[in-house]
Amino acid sequence: MLQGIAVSDGIALGRVLLLRAQALVFDEARSADPGPEAERFTKAVGAFCDNTMSRMRHLQQLPVRAEDSKILETHIGIAGDPELNSRVRELIESGLCAEAALSRVCDMYIAAFSDSHDELTRLRAEDIRDVRNAIIHLLLGVEDDSIREAPKGSILVAEELSPSVMADLDTERIVGLVLEKGGPASHAGIMARTMGLPAVCGVRGAADKLSQGDFVIVDGSRGAVISSPGEKVVAEYRRKREVQLEERRCMEDFRDRRTLSADGIEYPLYCNISMPCAAGGAIEAGGEGIGLFRTEYLFMNRSSPPGEDEQAAAYSQAIDGAGGRQVVIRTLDVGGDKSVPCLGVRQEENPFLGLRGVRWCLQNQDIFLTQLRALLRAAAGRSLHILLPMISALSELRACRRLIEKAREQLTNEGKPCAGSLPVGVMIETPAAAVIADQLSREAAFMSIGTNDLVGYIMACDRGNPAVGSLYDPFHPAVLRVLKHIIRCGSASGAPVCVCGETAADPRLTPLYMSYGVTSLSLPAGAIPRVRKTVSLWTKAEADSLSEAVGRLDTAKEVREALDGAARV
Ligand code: PEP
Ligand code: MG
Repeated sequence: MLQGIAVSDGIALGRVLLLRAQALVFDEARSADPGPEAERFTKAVGAFCDNTMSRMRHLQQLPVRAEDSKILETHIGIAGDPELNSRVRELIESGLCAEAALSRVCDMYIAAFSDSHDELTRLRAEDIRDVRNAIIHLLLGVEDDSIREAPKGSILVAEELSPSVMADLDTERIVGLVLEKGGPASHAGIMARTMGLPAVCGVRGAADKLSQGDFVIVDGSRGAVISSPGEKVVAEYRRKREVQLEERRCMEDFRDRRTLSADGIEYPLYCNISMPCAAGGAIEAGGEGIGLFRTEYLFMNRSSPPGEDEQAAAYSQAIDGAGGRQVVIRTLDVGGDKSVPCLGVRQEENPFLGLRGVRWCLQNQDIFLTQLRALLRAAAGRSLHILLPMISALSELRACRRLIEKAREQLTNEGKPCAGSLPVGVMIETPAAAVIADQLSREAAFMSIGTNDLVGYIMACDRGNPAVGSLYDPFHPAVLRVLKHIIRCGSASGAPVCVCGETAADPRLTPLYMSYGVTSLSLPAGAIPRVRKTVSLWTKAEADSLSEAVGRLDTAKEVREALDGAARV
């Protein structure tokens, strides 16, 4: 058995299709005529962008995969990056061939980004490597059809897979993935989950240990790859797979209904999106509205920020996509792990404790006002909730409100249609906001708990640092006590409370959130049916007694075990 990292649930049985990375063979020293060489390069970049654009459009048509198209958009941004392009052209001008010039420039960026402590920056190195390889393949004219022509039911074994390859995978031919590199946060891992493709990553030496055509079992839930299984094991896994497939079919029943507990309490499930075109797909996939639109993504991969008209159109598109259901749009959350070069956000020594979210916006009011004006224009005559990220003081909420008023006054004076008063809510993702949740919930229209950041700040722990990674734990009693406190504050003052971090998608935590009194949850579209089903299996009284029992436990390990044991499927 080969052990790796469990990345995407499910069981797959099939024969190995080994994909060896194609060597990018070219003559580094080949001297080239700069004119035609620059033209070859331009053509290859153009072809890459066209291919990637059509894959992106294809993903955007698929309800649960629309968010994945963002990754491809990033790749188009990298290929078209003016600085990267001009450096490559300089090297071509100095006599290098296009392959060598591109390779050198990309390798320089990759080396700079790969050692970063920050996971997103390391992912960017992965992106640049993928783009480099794809463009060099185009320059060399090499194409690998083995995946496209794979026999039905193949298990793909490779070192890693680029997002473009993932975007093209036909899940009838490829039923499971075994990758030597990557983990849950890698692009391949994220895309495997949205595709419902069982996957195990981080299996060292898999390509050497497995041979073309071997029969293997991929257990995506345990991170295990079983090679040459005996008859009994195969029979057992076929049975398990049937149970899982049946469960998935039954999940389909939970896609298009209201989210009601066993005793009839409603907990609407909204979707998290990062681009406006994903709103329609999120509703189609079972979302009851949009609970978090991360607008900073509109500002990434471009050389200048989107203007007011462009933003207003994007926000309108999201509101239209939701077809009259609730839409929560979060204002710019830059800084921390989100680098937005076109805004000139300065690199800080300690970005997670720096100028993030509303802190940055309040110091860059021109950009913030433009966004607020766009939001108010998009919401003219219809409903929209505005959400403020990284709040740590009441004064910040009040300052943002004043700016919203100012934006409204400006628009009214200019005779432009805009929304009247809108519900303005706060993200609770700093310990300070959590502690003053009673005050915030009296002034804010609603609260949304960002557990991704809140867990890190409560545990004083950087997820990207493996030495303390295990402390980053949403099951830690400290985290649960804080969540309970926040939600109780919301209930006491009548302010709705949503949980919108990744933990909202973990069904083991669902009964605890129900017991604490959460109003709604906001999660990735693919997780909706499972969480909706979980809600339907608990009454409030049952959730309360589980939460009481969990509240008496001392450690994260005990909490996890108790919630694993109590899980209902
Ligand atoms: C969070 O911190 O949980 C959250 C939802 O915000 P983001 O993941 O965008 O930082
Ligand atoms: Mg956050």
